[in-house]
Amino acid sequence: MTDQPLLRLHKVEKHFGDFVALDGVSLTLQAGTVTCLVGPSGSGKSTLLRTVNLLERLDGGAVYLRGEMLGFTRSGDHRRPVPKKVARRQAVNFGMVFQSFNLIPQMTAAENVALGPVEVLQVGRADARRQAHELLSRVGLADRVDHYPAELSGGQQQRVAIARALAMKPSVLLFDEPTSALDAELVAEVLAVIKELAMEGFTMLIVTHELAFARDIADEVVMMEDGRIIESGPPDRILLNPTTERARSFFASVS
Ligand code: ADP
Ligand code: MG
Repeated sequence: MTDQPLLRLHKVEKHFGDFVALDGVSLTLQAGTVTCLVGPSGSGKSTLLRTVNLLERLDGGAVYLRGEMLGFTRSGDHRRPVPKKVARRQAVNFGMVFQSFNLIPQMTAAENVALGPVEVLQVGRADARRQAHELLSRVGLADRVDHYPAELSGGQQQRVAIARALAMKPSVLLFDEPTSALDAELVAEVLAVIKELAMEGFTMLIVTHELAFARDIADEVVMMEDGRIIESGPPDRILLNPTTERARSFFASVS
């Protein structure tokens, strides 16, 4: 059997009116690898994650998970999206962690983590709660399960959000600048959790400006500009020896 990639984007396009946010992005993620996506603000990084996650509809190209085309009929007819039920099942394959945590303020940490499994995966409440406790322990929050988001630091809230993403047993974890909203002293605890997941073999696509972190954990670094990938490759080559002047000046500006 050939080594089929876990996730493959093929010439993905996304338009907002006349504006082209993604201009034919092709990208392959092998199972168990970490890809860090870098690039200036407005280059299309968040749009790319949202498109993979089926939060946005594609305007061209396709996304394949284990060879199965996501979001659209096999014919690739973009005017005919697959039924909502299928799209929802496909979306469950992705766990998303946002810059701004997006926890539900009226729910405790454990309730936030258990919500998806109960509502979407139809896991029983007791099982979902047990699993939430396990996951919160795993991200170092065993003693915070009954705290509300407002009672947690930003770093702790983001770790709850990571546990919440893991609770859905996703095939791919997507992170959109997971540490950008955090005070400097809280960044490390979140990066440590992400690094642990990388070492456990999770497949991850991470938008980050933390270049040292990217160099440490990424198998591949991908740089975007104006909705296109302008460089990609092993972190040492991309970050230390970029071929484009644009990448060179961008790395100089964020490090
Ligand atoms: P990044 O995450 O790299 O900073 P984004 O993916 O958020 O960039 O945005 C890429 C471009 O697409 C930006 O110019 C942004 O203004 C535009 N854009 C993103 N979402 C929308 C939207 N819903 N409607 C219109 N324009 C959008
Ligand atoms: Mg963004």
